[in-house]
Amino acid sequence: MNDIFTSNEELIKLIEEYGSPLYVYDENILRQRCKEMRNLLPNKNFRISYSSKANSNIELLKIIMSEDIDVDAMSPGEIFIQQKAGFTSERIFYIGNNVSANEMMYAVDKDILVSVDSLSQLKLFGEINRGGQVAIRFNPGVGAGHHEKVVTAGKKTKFGIQKDYINQVKELIKKYDLKLVGINQHLGSLFLDEDQYIEGVKKLLDIAREFQGLKFIDMGGGFGVPYKKDEKRLDLSKLSKKLEETLNEFLEKYDNKEVIFKAEPGRYIVAESGILFGTVYSIKDNYGVTYVGTDLGFNVLVRPVMYDSHHEIRVIKKCQVDNEKEKVTIVGNVCESGDVIAKDRELPKIDEGDIIGVMNAGAYGFSMSSNYNCRLRPAEVLRCLNGEFRLIRRADIYEDLVRNF
Ligand SMILES: *Cc1c(COP(=O)(O)O)cnc(C)c1O
Repeated sequence: MNDIFTSNEELIKLIEEYGSPLYVYDENILRQRCKEMRNLLPNKNFRISYSSKANSNIELLKIIMSEDIDVDAMSPGEIFIQQKAGFTSERIFYIGNNVSANEMMYAVDKDILVSVDSLSQLKLFGEINRGGQVAIRFNPGVGAGHHEKVVTAGKKTKFGIQKDYINQVKELIKKYDLKLVGINQHLGSLFLDEDQYIEGVKKLLDIAREFQGLKFIDMGGGFGVPYKKDEKRLDLSKLSKKLEETLNEFLEKYDNKEVIFKAEPGRYIVAESGILFGTVYSIKDNYGVTYVGTDLGFNVLVRPVMYDSHHEIRVIKKCQVDNEKEKVTIVGNVCESGDVIAKDRELPKIDEGDIIGVMNAGAYGFSMSSNYNCRLRPAEVLRCLNGEFRLIRRADIYEDLVRNF
């Protein structure tokens, strides 16, 4: 059915062993995507920081770390798990947004660099860590993304400091004797056209020129993957070439020729390595729509409900295959009418007991899963390079639901 499994029987056995639903990741694809990102700018001082909110499974983090990739953290909890995976402090970058003094201290105490994204947070940082090193997230005034909820720069978002406040930034830096070591931005999530990224980078470089001696310039993430069958891939070689030109032009006039450029992809690294599998328990017609009822509620994968996201669906037949097709809507088992994973899809005829594969589910899949409806979160399994399957997170058990009482 796909590259991960040699046969349907192999998948069915795996689900029998670890339960349904089940997240399965492919180490080979994961490493390939890491390498593609690492090689985006082969001739530059260039580092990749994986944005681990896309998927923070500790075993996947270890693999990504072994590919010479650093990490971005969005919270102390992410820092905690990244350190458990083995990332040292200098490889972690804490990009805060509206964080408390305690949360900032959590990173500062561990010598982890913090990025702040408002004047108030810069002031707070100065108060708790006078004389320290800091990074600042700017909002370049342009954004990108597949849905307005994931556009994280531009004129309609809460993120970053707008360029007009550079003087106030400089004053605060002086007042608290801070050392600005880097600036960063993040346009938003999921672009497939390299020009949007380049446009954002140019704006960030304009801001960089205002500050001498920066150690790094972090251009952000957002690299898209094709969720739809007929979508074109992001053209990395084109992106690489345009980026290289843009950065060279900048370097000609910048004082620190050794400045490190960074990018922080999340989705691109993990999305395509993951497939979510679920089981069909019921099929019915309701007023002209055929509903395929599965255990893939939005507690397991929220993207379709939250962002109207499209995921390709594969049907794995338990029994014989006939060539009949039908239009169906695949739904989960959560008590809300919005609990739809795929609407009006032309698919091979589905029967009870068949397995549904939700493709490209590696990013913002498990990491956004929840125990809503007191459902148990699924297990995660890795297909290792040698073809063997390994459990990398067990499924919840009922006791997990009462652990904190
Ligand atoms: C989420 C996030 C990223 C990664 O976004 P992707 O679309 O997954 O690449 C990068 N930088 C920041 C600051 C983020 O919040």
